[in-house]
Amino acid sequence: MTDRRGVFEYILGGETDTRLLNVRVFSDKEKKLVYAKQTAETTKKGVSNCPLCAVGHDANARRVCGESASSAFGFAPAQTPRLRPPARRGILGSMNENITKRNELLAAKVIRGLASRNMEGFYAADRDAALRQALALIPEGSKVTMGGGMSAREIGLVDALKNGPYEFLDRDAATDKRAAMLAAYDADVFLSGANAITEDGVLVNIDGNANRVSAIAQGPRKVLFIVGMNKVCCDVDAALKRARNVAAPINAQRFGLSTPCAKTGSCMDCKSPDTICCQFLVTRFSHHPGRIQVVLVNDDLGF
Ligand code: SF4
Repeated sequence: MTDRRGVFEYILGGETDTRLLNVRVFSDKEKKLVYAKQTAETTKKGVSNCPLCAVGHDANARRVCGESASSAFGFAPAQTPRLRPPARRGILGSMNENITKRNELLAAKVIRGLASRNMEGFYAADRDAALRQALALIPEGSKVTMGGGMSAREIGLVDALKNGPYEFLDRDAATDKRAAMLAAYDADVFLSGANAITEDGVLVNIDGNANRVSAIAQGPRKVLFIVGMNKVCCDVDAALKRARNVAAPINAQRFGLSTPCAKTGSCMDCKSPDTICCQFLVTRFSHHPGRIQVVLVNDDLGF
């Protein structure tokens, strides 16, 4: 969009005239040119040309994504842009209140479930509150690292740790990835998202390399989960289904993997060499009080 002024009128005012948004559509020629330029720059730096893959882990952090993956280089497709349906003035506000009320009630149930499992839960009304809560749980001077994932980045926690009085081990920037992964086991705090969490406080995570699930299970002194309320499922069965039919296909797309779910959008129970469903971790209890903490955020985070 080349002009933000019409966005508020369009979304909040219930307007349908897309000219208000002043959308600029890129031609195929423009996309090809910028793709080539961006790929040349990122190849020189030794990172993926896809901004999402570049912040990920494994070999994907250096993967050169195809030109057809237009989202990878930040372009909208050269067709009619996908837009949220316009909301009528006033309805949006009351819907948000209803969602927030539901999330508050549900989060209280999840937090009780976590407590029954020797884990701690906290509820944050929005991303800013989540950032404040997370920082309150990480003592200054802590050695902090993470195993990939988007939720901690989305609330601004990774930037705050990099720029604050903490020792942040940035695995994505490390030249020796294996050493960085091993260092995670001795961290004070390991940050993680969750593929799903049940209403009674069971955490479900799947992993390809297992560095994330292994660190959740053992090693770091504390594991701090940042979890959007979109990850809450009614039970373990639903959580596993979410992990395999929502999180995995999106992550397979994100990393440019050649898995059936990347093509179909749902799990085909594959044994593909690219599968990211090698290890499943169901965390139903912690022997160490205070080691696992979960900040539940009244927002959609991650996948
Ligand atoms: S098992 Fe294969 S198809 Fe199913 S979610 Fe995992 S990677 Fe995708």
